[in-house]
Amino acid sequence: MSRNSVLIVGGGIGGLSASIALRNAGYDVHVVEIQQDLHSSVYGVGIIQPVNALRALDAIGCAEACMAVGYATTAWGHMLDVDGNLLREMPGARIPGSDLPPMNGLTRPQLHRILTDKALEAGVVIAYDRTFTTLTDGPDGVEVTYTDGSENVVDLVVGADGVHSKVRPYVLAEDIEPVYLGQSAFRLNIPRDPEIDRIILQHGPEGLAGFVPIGPDLAYLFYNTTWEEGRWLDQDKMADELRERLAPFGGLAGRVRDAYVNDSSKIVFRPEEWLIAPAPWHKGRIVLMGDAVHAVTPHLGQGAAQAIEDGVVLARCLAAHSSHEEAFAEYTEARYERCRLVVESSVQIGEYEMDPSQYPDFDHAGLTQHVLETMVQPM
Ligand SMILES: Cc1cc2nc3c(=O)[nH]c(=O)nc-3n(C[C@H](O)[C@H](O)[C@H](O)COP(=O)(O)OP(=O)(O)OC[C@H]3O[C@@H](n4cnc5c(N)ncnc54)[C@H](O)[C@@H]3O)c2cc1C
Repeated sequence: MSRNSVLIVGGGIGGLSASIALRNAGYDVHVVEIQQDLHSSVYGVGIIQPVNALRALDAIGCAEACMAVGYATTAWGHMLDVDGNLLREMPGARIPGSDLPPMNGLTRPQLHRILTDKALEAGVVIAYDRTFTTLTDGPDGVEVTYTDGSENVVDLVVGADGVHSKVRPYVLAEDIEPVYLGQSAFRLNIPRDPEIDRIILQHGPEGLAGFVPIGPDLAYLFYNTTWEEGRWLDQDKMADELRERLAPFGGLAGRVRDAYVNDSSKIVFRPEEWLIAPAPWHKGRIVLMGDAVHAVTPHLGQGAAQAIEDGVVLARCLAAHSSHEEAFAEYTEARYERCRLVVESSVQIGEYEMDPSQYPDFDHAGLTQHVLETMVQPM
């Protein structure tokens, strides 16, 4: 059966990573991205790259470029109390025999630029402002019709179109939807204080403030807080709301609140959703990856890492098998439990943050370390 051409729906972190890996494995790869251009498909501020993300990026030739523009740390982080006193060190994990750091942080536009440049250099074709209308899977390929009225037949389709995936219903039951965690997060880029040389988490009475270095002079503040589902907050009220929620904090969070939380237009607000779709993540010639099958809340900084790993493992499985069914089955087998651990551990941390009194024995730093150590095991 032929399988030389691959259509990837979605030019986000996962789709671009998969496009490079598949192109390097010899496929003709086309990406359709619904947004107008490279930058309009980027949301949020910065991105945490744990060591397993860097290993996967290294496999597609992008890790060096990420570390060159970002900020690589010597440990994962530490945890402070509401006044800024040290509670726990969080060492993170390293890959035996590798020089990769426990974590690198960079901005999302930088990561998108790096992945896009590498994809184009490898010969991937990326079409913006374009998507499919229908997919018809058949024995000789998938017939694809596009929103501009054109159509073609491709050997394989990869659904990398995020948490509200339109490809997902072609593979899984239509009623699979992400679940709102009950928390939402504020994010704001700030100048990097020398103290922010790793991830810093500061526990407050009603939420968790955090700091992530994303460049030599740049960091971001996040604040995860309990938030009613669907509650809307006008953009121009963001700074007041965030300052109020950070009011109980001293130490680093208190200093950052007073110095930098003043421009509502710079604050990014996001609800936190999760999903672990049941296996198998494929049907016929169509396969799913990234947030489309395992959307992760940001508590472990692993969502993008898992999407990048998906792309690398998918290409590896396709290169190893002459049958796409066998390759897709091996891909799901390799990915499912790993992604489930990340999704479920992230949800546990979020539930603890929303009501610590319910979980007196919960070990936030210990669970984080356990997941990080599991993630350094081979993909
Ligand atoms: C606020 C926030 C902060 C986060 N921080 C981190 C972090 O620090 N570290 C980390 O590892 N993860 C983080 N994550 C998670 C991470 O961003 C996601 O897990 C990751 O982006 C998933 O990649 P993806 O390619 O599967 O999906 P996406 O990045 O969502 O990409 C999907 C792409 O598909 C496109 N698309 C959608 N529908 C269609 C369609 N019908 N046709 C064509 N294209 C389509 C979209 O425009 C988008 O470009 C964070 C998430 C959020 C919300």
